[in-house]
Amino acid sequence: MGSETLPRYEHWIEGADAAPASGRYLPTEDPFSGRVWASIARGDAEDARRAVESAHRAFTTGPWPRLTASERGRRLWRLGDLIVAHVDHLAEIEQRDNGKLGTEVRAQVRYMGDYFRYYAGLADKIESSVLPTDKPGVFAYTRYEPKGVIAIITPWNSPLTLTSWKLAPALAAGCTAVVKPSEFTSASMIEFARLMEQAGIPAGVVNVVTGLGPEVGEALVTHPAVAHVGFTGGTVAGRRIYELAARGLKTVTLELGGKSPNVVFEDADLEQAVKGTVSGIFAASGQSCQAGSRLLLQSSIHDRFVGMLVDFIASAKLGDPALPDTQIGPISTRPQFDKIMSYIELAKSDGARCVFGGRSRPDLGAGQFVEPTIFVDVRNDMRIAQEEVFGPVLSVIRFDDEEDAIRIANDIEFGLAAAVWTRDLRRAMMMTERLQAGTVWVNNYRATSFTSPFGGYKASGIGRESGSETIKEYLNTKCVWVSSDLDVPNPFIRR
Ligand code: NAD
Repeated sequence: MGSETLPRYEHWIEGADAAPASGRYLPTEDPFSGRVWASIARGDAEDARRAVESAHRAFTTGPWPRLTASERGRRLWRLGDLIVAHVDHLAEIEQRDNGKLGTEVRAQVRYMGDYFRYYAGLADKIESSVLPTDKPGVFAYTRYEPKGVIAIITPWNSPLTLTSWKLAPALAAGCTAVVKPSEFTSASMIEFARLMEQAGIPAGVVNVVTGLGPEVGEALVTHPAVAHVGFTGGTVAGRRIYELAARGLKTVTLELGGKSPNVVFEDADLEQAVKGTVSGIFAASGQSCQAGSRLLLQSSIHDRFVGMLVDFIASAKLGDPALPDTQIGPISTRPQFDKIMSYIELAKSDGARCVFGGRSRPDLGAGQFVEPTIFVDVRNDMRIAQEEVFGPVLSVIRFDDEEDAIRIANDIEFGLAAAVWTRDLRRAMMMTERLQAGTVWVNNYRATSFTSPFGGYKASGIGRESGSETIKEYLNTKCVWVSSDLDVPNPFIRR
C-alpha cells in the first residue's frame, strides 16, 4: 500500500480534526506485521496551546461545568453506551496499534463503558458538608468545584482503558481535558473523541493532541491553564512530568511502573497459584504495570512449582494477536522489544539461570516476539529483580520463611501491587498488612475494577485512580463562610 493511501489522523481540537501546526506526521505501525498502517499528527507547543485554549474556553465559558451534575451523568452514561456500541471498531484499531490479543482488547474496551457509567452515576452523589464551627454568628460549608483543564498523558499498553481511568472521573467532576496518547497508539483515542458529540458532550470538552512526549507532552504539562496532570507511564517520564508540574504548582496523579512480588507459600493451592502466576506475568506479554514479575517461592516448593509453571506455559500459543486461539502476541513496540531482549542477556550475564524461553521468535510476524521466559537463581539485588522489564520475563527468587518473604518483597523502589498465595488466614492477613503496595491480592492476581482504587506506593506513583474517592482528584474543596449576624465585629476592638 503506498503511503498516500494510508489513513491519516489529525489532532482533535474543539470537536474537529486539526492539522498539526508543523505540517509533520509520524508513522504508526502494526507490531505483528511490522507494517505502517496510518500516520498521526506530530504535535508541538503550538498544537498544545490550541488544544489547551479550546479546553479552557469550554471550561470557563462553555456549558459543561455549568450543567447539573445529574445532566452530566446522563451524558456520560450515553457515552458508556456508545463505547459498547462501537466496541469492535475501537478495539480493532487499538489492537492493530499495540498488538495485544483481540479478545483482550475487546473485553477492555467493553469494560470502559462500565467505567463511564460508574462515574455517570457518581456525578450527582458528591456530597459536601455543613461544618461545625467555634465562631458565633457564621455558618460554614464546603463546595466541591471542578479543577479546570486536565492534561491526560497515557502509554501504549492499554491506551483507551488508561485514558478512561482519568477522563471518566474528570468529566463527571465537570472538568475539561486535553489527552496526549502514546505516539505508538494514538488512533483509537481520536476515534473515541469522535463519539463525544453524539453523547452530548460539547465541542472543546475533550481535545486530543498526538506526538512525542518532549515535543507536545511537556508543552501540555507546562501550559499555565492546565490545572492537573493525570499521567500513566514509566518512572523516568513520570519524574520529569512531576518536576514540570511542580514549577506551575499543579496537582498530579502519577501511575508509574512496578516490579510486583507474587509470593507463594508452601501451604498454597499450587495449581491455582500457577494459573495466577501465569496470568500475572505472561498476560499481555508482560506489558502490564501490575505484572507479577518477581515470583517469590518458599524454598520447600521451589523446584516443584517451577516444574508446574514450565509445564503450564510450554503449550502457550504465540502468534497473530487478531486470531482467537492465540495466547501470546507480539511486543508492542520495537524499542520495547529491544529493551526486553537486552534484559534477558543482562540476567544471563549476572548469573540468573533461564529454565524456559529466553529467545525472540523471528519466524513469527515481523519477528517482534519474545518467548515467555523464566529465570531461576535470581537474587533480589540483581538488576533483573530490581528494574522493570515490562515484558514476559519472570524472575524467581527463593525465600525461607515469612520474615524473609516480607523483607525481599519490600526491598525494592516500587510498590504498585503484590500477591500472596496461602491457605493460612493469619498469614494472609499479616502479609496484607506488611506488603508495601497499593494493591494486594490474596489467592488471586490481577483483579481491578472501576469500583476500587488503584495506584502505587513509593516510586510507583502518586494518587489513586478508580473508585469513588478518586473523583476528588479532579475537584477543589472550597469552604464558604456565611454570616448570620448583621454586626460585623470591629477589628480594632478585641472581644
Ligand atoms: P513512557 O513513560 O515512555 O510514555 C508514556 C507517555 O508519556 C507517552 O504518551 C509519552 O509520549 C509521554 N511522555 C514521555 N516523556 C514525556 C515528557 N517528558 N513529557 C510529557 N510526556 C511524556 O511509557 P511507555 O513506554 O509508553 O509505557 C510503558 C511504561 O508505562 C512502563 O514503565 C509501565 O510500567 C508504565 N505503565 C504504568 C501503568 C500504571 O498504571 N502504573 C500502566 C501502564 C503502563
